[in-house]
Amino acid sequence: MKHFGVVVIGGGHAGTEAAHASARMGVSTALVTMKRSGIGVMSCNPAIGGLGKGHLVREIDAMDGVMGRVADASGIQFRLLNRRKGPAVQGPRTQSDRAVYQSTMLRITEEMPNLNVVEGEVIDFRMDGDDVSGVILRDGSEISASAVILTTGTFLRGVIHIGDSSYSGGRMGDEASVPLADRMDSFALPMGRLKTGTPPRLDGRTIRWDILDVQDADAEPSLFSFLSTFAPLRQIACGITHTNSETHDIIRENLGRSAMYGGHIEGVGPRYCPSIEDKIVRFADKDSHQVFLEPEGLNDHTIYPNGISTSLPADIQVEYVRSMVGLENAKILQPGYAIEYDYVDPRSLNADLAVRGIQGLYLAGQINGTTGYEEAAAQGLVAGINAAHSVVGREPVRFRRDESYIGVMIDDLTTRGVTEPYRMFTSRAEFRLSLRADNADQRLTELGRNLGCVSDARYAVFERKRAALDGLRTRLQEEQFTPKQIAEQGIRINQDGTKRTPFQVLAFPDVTFDHVKNLVPDLDNYASEIQEQVARDALYANYIARQRKDIEKLRKDEQLKIPAGFDYSAISGLSSELQSKLMTVQPSDLAQAGRIDGMTPAALALILGRIRYLE
Ligand code: FAD
Repeated sequence: MKHFGVVVIGGGHAGTEAAHASARMGVSTALVTMKRSGIGVMSCNPAIGGLGKGHLVREIDAMDGVMGRVADASGIQFRLLNRRKGPAVQGPRTQSDRAVYQSTMLRITEEMPNLNVVEGEVIDFRMDGDDVSGVILRDGSEISASAVILTTGTFLRGVIHIGDSSYSGGRMGDEASVPLADRMDSFALPMGRLKTGTPPRLDGRTIRWDILDVQDADAEPSLFSFLSTFAPLRQIACGITHTNSETHDIIRENLGRSAMYGGHIEGVGPRYCPSIEDKIVRFADKDSHQVFLEPEGLNDHTIYPNGISTSLPADIQVEYVRSMVGLENAKILQPGYAIEYDYVDPRSLNADLAVRGIQGLYLAGQINGTTGYEEAAAQGLVAGINAAHSVVGREPVRFRRDESYIGVMIDDLTTRGVTEPYRMFTSRAEFRLSLRADNADQRLTELGRNLGCVSDARYAVFERKRAALDGLRTRLQEEQFTPKQIAEQGIRINQDGTKRTPFQVLAFPDVTFDHVKNLVPDLDNYASEIQEQVARDALYANYIARQRKDIEKLRKDEQLKIPAGFDYSAISGLSSELQSKLMTVQPSDLAQAGRIDGMTPAALALILGRIRYLE
């Protein structure tokens, strides 16, 4: 029987990132997945990034992960979302050439040292008492492992729904994972059902592009990877159409035939990514919704109509699609559908994504109640690093809320759980001014290096950049200028007599780097990306200083550990609801306890008092 340090089940976005992370850390790793050709498949939208999600991809890349590089290699429409808003909430996004994304992910996975791809379905775990010690495949073969990471996405007892027809499937064209779901049942973990949906795919040759509005790519692509220097693929535009009153009438009249509204689906869907049926019902006063017609590749006629995911019967899909301008003759290549699947309540996990009470088992991705490739990949990274750490006997790694969106997501999941598929938003991060997409490397690459998952090549690039940033920041703070000197550069400033450094001046409204160039000579020796990043740092410097104080306060709280097995029922005055939530989550420290849904300052004070009493 073969033995690996880490076995990863599933070659989706969580699985590939987990397997690469574990292999990068020098641990022998096997990636077991149903189909080798399914590695890196984008089940739904051929796009990476967006608001909040783009931050996650940059953070994965800062830890030397793969998603950013693959997205850059396959990007066909890079756009920086929220460009007009502050840099903290801007999100890089690209549409991807679906086939190139997949083939690139497959190639770099097969080429990765320490990583073996095994094709097959895992139907059970090898157990050593209560501990997981490997996997059993459908062909009867077994692989032993010190740690196993489960990343089955939408496959665990997946059921596909189109209208009133339902059948077992992991996604269109793939079988569901049922025996493994049965094994998961035997662990008696809290589990539930969630659902998600996808739109019909259209034949681009049957769309009247000439009458549609278009949306172009940015002239300058915002790439994901800190290592990428250019976008290799041709950039394309996408089309825009709209639903109209006829579309809405067709959908309204047939709501009862939709799988979701016809009562065939019990799982909860993503509120922030509603189906077209949902939109018509929930936003009944709106008479039109925008639909982006996104090409799935440079050599592919398939079009992904973003905004009309559905579980209506195929004939109704044809009718409502053809009611939209430009789509009058559109041919549907694959109908839209909804899928329901099992997930595990992520409050059963520790912050390293290990399942509590089952030694050797980690979970990452959609199985933890999230939705989206980026959320899945970020969890894969965390599980991969931690599983590898457990194999070599190192301490679990905890990502903090104040240092990364990854930390925000893991903490949200393991502390609060989910009531619907969880996706990332910038509003979830309380420290978002310092957690920008552009500074993810400055926040995380050093940490990744210390953990052993950042290569020499990346670290060398990072160190050069860090030196340039430090140099420029110092240069901009060496000298102070009078308000008169500053005003001479065309900058509006109160003549209050206070001298300021050019770095402080950069925080003024509408001041750009060009304004300060006459104050400090030779600034053009610094690359434009270094100038822009320092200007963004300067813009937020005052807010960030204030935030840092908050962070220090939070850290003090975090230092107060709650002993394992702490008995909350012994605290009189704590509501039974909170007692039960605390027993389920088992927070490791006071700060984590403070983030539990429904927690009050008074309840925290009771817990604090009890810990101090027992000390
Ligand atoms: P997946 O990408 O699903 O990968 C799971 C992998 O596990 C697959 O490679 C599979 O072959 C493998 N596998 C499963 N069971 C076994 C087993 N027993 N043995 C071996 N291998 C196994 N996300 C959004 O953000 N917005 C959307 O609108 C959206 N809509 C979606 C619609 C549909 C119909 C589907 C299917 C998904 C949708 N998603 C959407 C979700 C998105 O695809 C997932 O969030 C993402 O792919 C999750 O990544 P993952 O790695 O967890 O799982």
